[in-house]
Amino acid sequence: MMVDATSSLEQELNPWLAAEARFDLAAEKLGLDDGMRKVLRSPAREITVSIPVMLDDGRLEVFTGYRVQHSIARGPAKGGIRYAPDVTLDEVRALASWMTWKCAVVNIPFGGGKGGVVCDPTVLSQAELERITRRYTAEIIEFIGPEIDVPAPDMNTNEQTMAWIMDTYSMHHRQTVTAVVTGKPINLGGSHGRTEATGRGCLITALQALQHFNIDPASARVVVQGFGNVGGMAAKLMQRLGMKIITVIEYDGAVHNPKGLDVLGLMKHRQETGSILDFPEAENVDREEALFTECEILLPAAKEGVITSQNAHKLRAKILCEGANGPTTAAADEILAAQNVFVIPDILANAGGVTVSYFEWVQDRQGFFWNEQLVNGRLEEIMVNSFRDVTGYAQKYRVDNRTAAYMLALDRVSFAIKLRGIYA
Ligand code: GLU
Repeated sequence: MMVDATSSLEQELNPWLAAEARFDLAAEKLGLDDGMRKVLRSPAREITVSIPVMLDDGRLEVFTGYRVQHSIARGPAKGGIRYAPDVTLDEVRALASWMTWKCAVVNIPFGGGKGGVVCDPTVLSQAELERITRRYTAEIIEFIGPEIDVPAPDMNTNEQTMAWIMDTYSMHHRQTVTAVVTGKPINLGGSHGRTEATGRGCLITALQALQHFNIDPASARVVVQGFGNVGGMAAKLMQRLGMKIITVIEYDGAVHNPKGLDVLGLMKHRQETGSILDFPEAENVDREEALFTECEILLPAAKEGVITSQNAHKLRAKILCEGANGPTTAAADEILAAQNVFVIPDILANAGGVTVSYFEWVQDRQGFFWNEQLVNGRLEEIMVNSFRDVTGYAQKYRVDNRTAAYMLALDRVSFAIKLRGIYA
């Protein structure tokens, strides 16, 4: 019995199986033919490389790196690179396909890709991370480029990582090519507003959902899981608009204040103490239970597979705004639908990041840079339109928002493939 339960939960937590389940449902509703389904579900290219690196203590280690290009039907592959000890090819493959659908939902001219390096960044020095990044870039160098595949930051990678990739690529090409990656530092071809973009996109879509329910943002209570670039930024921006961030959950615990936490103060407290716990004017609470706090908006912004068939029924949120990629398993979808939770699916909610990545790529290629106001205005326009496109599909086809987002994306990508035709 025990063994069965574990293996079925393991299956449920496999992100590639989750991606396939959602894909199948949307393809079915759209009535896509078998051939097109085969094309859409097969990653165009999967690269696995060995990354030999000399560690600081003189030992030679070999890391494994992946880059999956799921689709290039609508433009160059686009998507982040993550560093983590548990990265798998299945995970990178799922994330790459989500990038294809995400770019299609916000209608930007990219396909989808994702990369990963199996390593534990917490035990590596900056110098070791730099050597890993440069060698990984060198190993995949003929497969990336402004017109081929444009990486970006993801879990445990940041603008410094992007600067190293840009430099390595540029050294090989004997010219500075800023548009090969996005999420770079501002003075190296980065864009204003990129760091905040994913969190800002979450805010914009959450505001649209509140409007849908006629809820005044000032009376909205928010629970945030993950206080990093996505969750932290979203919380900061939400609080600025008067929303109450009542609970913040991190890997080592959670803090709660029913009157609302001071987000900037909490960030400072974490910087000083290394943890969000023991924040004055807040109560430390159990991190598992904290996810079930009653709220208007629950924002999971950490990692995959946190809302599952085991706990979805316990959620007490009206709106689920998926800041992370794949925080909800496919098996949990039905439970959420039965509870009438309004889901803003990841491929819409967190698409602000890749949208501003697109702006960065455009600016780099033009050599002409925009101010932050212009970036934020254009981001808002795209996010609001995409929210309407997705909810419009949900109404038209009488499906939940996630299925609607997948249907919209599949429609756009399959249309591009049909127009281009199959090269033989
Ligand atoms: N890693 C981010 C995501 O999952 C950003 C990707 C990008 O900007 O290309 O959407």
